[in-house]
Amino acid sequence: MSESVDARWDLIVVGGGAAGMPAALFAARRGARVLLIDHAPVLGGTLWVATGQMSAAGTKLQREKGVEDSPQEHYDDVMRLSRGTANPELVRLAVFNAAETFDWLFDLGLVVRDDDPVKAYGHEPYLKARYYWPTKDGLAVKDLIEPLVHAEVAAGRIALRLSHEVTELLTDDEGGVCGLTALDAAGAVHRFHGRNVALTCGGYASNPEMYEEITGAPQYIAMSYAYSRGAGLRLGQSVGGYLRGAENFIANFGLPLASESYPTQPVVRLNTYPDRRQPWEIYVNARGDRFVREDMPSVDARENALMEQPDRRYWVIFDQAILEAAPPIAIGWTQVEMAAAFTAGYPSFHRAETLGALADMAGIEAEGLERAVRSYNYGVATGNDFLGRTHLPLPIGQGPFYAIRQQASTITTSAGLAVNQSLQVIRRDGSVIPGLYAAGEVLGAGQTMGRAFCGGMMVTPALTFGRLLGQSIIPIGN
Ligand SMILES: Cc1cc2nc3c(=O)[nH]c(=O)nc-3n(C[C@H](O)[C@H](O)[C@H](O)COP(=O)(O)OP(=O)(O)OC[C@H]3O[C@@H](n4cnc5c(N)ncnc54)[C@H](O)[C@@H]3O)c2cc1C
Repeated sequence: MSESVDARWDLIVVGGGAAGMPAALFAARRGARVLLIDHAPVLGGTLWVATGQMSAAGTKLQREKGVEDSPQEHYDDVMRLSRGTANPELVRLAVFNAAETFDWLFDLGLVVRDDDPVKAYGHEPYLKARYYWPTKDGLAVKDLIEPLVHAEVAAGRIALRLSHEVTELLTDDEGGVCGLTALDAAGAVHRFHGRNVALTCGGYASNPEMYEEITGAPQYIAMSYAYSRGAGLRLGQSVGGYLRGAENFIANFGLPLASESYPTQPVVRLNTYPDRRQPWEIYVNARGDRFVREDMPSVDARENALMEQPDRRYWVIFDQAILEAAPPIAIGWTQVEMAAAFTAGYPSFHRAETLGALADMAGIEAEGLERAVRSYNYGVATGNDFLGRTHLPLPIGQGPFYAIRQQASTITTSAGLAVNQSLQVIRRDGSVIPGLYAAGEVLGAGQTMGRAFCGGMMVTPALTFGRLLGQSIIPIGN
């Protein structure tokens, strides 16, 4: 084991992603002696793969565009969207400091879409336009911050250890955190000592075992950052921290999977957004029952309805006439590509001459499916759909019939380490673990979004909490 000789660091930052880079950067600018460690060979974390949508109220761009908004309204909106399930303290800390974070990036040159800010991109809309989407996705954010971190490294104010996996936290006699051990790429163990440790090492979305242990659902989709393996949650727990927010697990409205061996990739994305494409198909669960009106305008209502279905999956059902008449449902696919998917051997795509055969192939109860189609066709004929659907263009009449299975999934982490409003990791009794802080996805999405998808409420809070840790929260000096 190698012992770091020039230690004690004022701050050791574990993970250089959306939260860790600003934490290290701003602490260094305050004069702290900072060590930044990352398991990956590069900085940036999930920003490499993230869409990078952000939300912030009271920004310069909003003022330029004449949008009147305030952090209080943002706060109220997140609590409305999450139906009170988000953590009030952390949402407040995030949104009341979000504009400063966004303006910082904007002044650095962040380019967002021309129409921004908007109220929504695919998630349940905010009441005010406070939602931004960088033209180069999450990478745009990484590309702005990373050079600033490297400048501090070059100036000797941040020591950077890439390809080092933090494996253990060190504690003193009082149970406070005073350092950590890390494993380098060659397998050598290093020990680093510090007054403060910030766990900014992301979530567990790329750790299928941990994901299933916490959410109770398999990790179906492999789209998260490879190093999001839940290390921060385990490290925090090892010194007395605990997890909260598992009850806020919420999944998206489904993707067709490429394989039965999980995690896997989606074959394609289906356009199940009625505001972009009105549905021509019906959606049924494994019993064959329709469970939500397919033209339900609320994304949140569709997602919540799916959460109640067996295995959180459903099948999109249609016939040949609908396939030919409807606008394409698979985003980016031609009708020819769509037709080819049904003979490509994907477990999510089925085609059969009769509804009964289709049900058998797909794993749907045949009687239920036939009943659902009969009932839907009655609604098409009379305009009286039993779920209240109003877009009823064609009955499902003649074979061949088609089924595409959609599996609800998430690419982020719902539960995470419990912290107080100063981002100090706490024990179950509310006491603080001295020297230990946490920010970003290691806290779990369930804190800043609750049991809902609140637009931009992961990237912006991660950046903001990291910035606050570095700028003001972490004590510096003797
Ligand atoms: C595909 C995708 C799209 C998304 N889109 C959006 C979006 O549009 N808007 C939004 O708000 N959120 C979005 N998210 C979520 C959001 O991007 C993340 O929650 C956020 O970037 C996490 O930042 P972080 O700093 O907490 O963690 P990360 O960015 O994951 O950084 C953690 C860092 O810690 C390192 N690390 C891990 N373990 C160790 C260890 N043991 N030792 C040392 N280092 C370690 C990792 O290598 C990584 O660099 C998306 C997520 C995904 C996967």
